Amino acid sequence: MSNKGKKFETEAIRTQMERSQNLEHSSPIYMTSSFVFEDAEDMRASFAEEKQRNIYSRYSNPNSNELIEKVCKMEGAENGFAYASGMAAVFSTLAALLDAGDHVISSKSIFGSTHTLFTQFFPKWNIGTSYFDANDLSTIEGLIQPNTKILYAETPTNPGVDVLDLEVLGKIAKKHNLIFIVDNCFATPYLQQPIKFGADLVIHSGTKLMDGQGRVLAGITVGSGDLMDKVYRFSRITGPALSPFNAWVLSRSLETLAIRVDRHCENALKLATYLESHDKIEWVKYPFLKSHPKHEIAKKQMKAGGCVVAFQVKGGLEAGREFFDSIQLLSLSANLGDARSIVTHPASTTHSKLTTEEREAVGISNGMVRVSVGLEHIDDIIADIKQALG
Ligand SMILES: *Cc1c(COP(=O)(O)O)cnc(C)c1O
Repeated sequence: MSNKGKKFETEAIRTQMERSQNLEHSSPIYMTSSFVFEDAEDMRASFAEEKQRNIYSRYSNPNSNELIEKVCKMEGAENGFAYASGMAAVFSTLAALLDAGDHVISSKSIFGSTHTLFTQFFPKWNIGTSYFDANDLSTIEGLIQPNTKILYAETPTNPGVDVLDLEVLGKIAKKHNLIFIVDNCFATPYLQQPIKFGADLVIHSGTKLMDGQGRVLAGITVGSGDLMDKVYRFSRITGPALSPFNAWVLSRSLETLAIRVDRHCENALKLATYLESHDKIEWVKYPFLKSHPKHEIAKKQMKAGGCVVAFQVKGGLEAGREFFDSIQLLSLSANLGDARSIVTHPASTTHSKLTTEEREAVGISNGMVRVSVGLEHIDDIIADIKQALG
């Protein structure tokens, strides 16, 4: 999957499967579970993997292939696999690469379900995980064991929007021969390409900004050809493949990724700046605000700050609840990266299963609010938040 060197926006739009004889302009949907062979020799050679072609949609399908090729170009990756959800991508990628007895080093601040996978399910296969604080990368080398295989991180983090230095992580992984995996869901390949900083594999939940319209669940892993070969062999057997329809939706969504994400970021920065000047706000965190503790790192590795702004209303939990009950336009929902702006209270929703101390360890205070800033006019977004604070 060579990158022909066109610009990001062009590849997002012009990476397409070959046209059929119908000369369609937009890619068609291949709603088929399997593919036919020309003759016995074609069938034999296909199964022997002497030729690259579609056999069965659990392995590959023209719509998934188009999506994978596109995301590979966007991330600077060699190969990939498309999954039915972000978590299917996370689980299949890790399970394909880890053996019983292996060890993972992960940032503490990772997506809740990924955290649960590490703490509750991988121990069943004797796979242990050690955690480092997203704001203190100096502890990582001390956690390395002879059986450590993977270094895992997300940046910016959910929901605390902390920023981890990808270059530092990449160097540690290289020095100790660890597979470096980045969940790049919050940034999208438009804002940040972790492979440039040494990541071996990049995982996305396509459900968030990639689709951007709250329509499909999807996931994708892309990265080095060697590692993806292992991930592909595991994934084609275990069956987490993305449906052709959802692959088609997502591939169309990516055509507008750059233009959508630009507006998300513009709106988010305006909202963050507004909140910073509001006297009922305790603090605001957004990677492209100068006040963000890792602002310089964010600028080094990201094109803009993303769609998520975190803040705390003065008066803690009670004031936070009042704020949520007064919201009129924005949605109270757990999703993010949607065209519709969403407000979430992590302590009572996505992270409610953690204790207050566990939440504090991953940077979530009880009164913290997370806003996924959407594509409505910024004046209306700010007006709703203003009246809810008033
Ligand atoms: C949502 C999310 C996931 C999981 O994706 P699903 O599509 O919901 O399975 C993984 N990582 C991050 C950072 C997410 O936000």
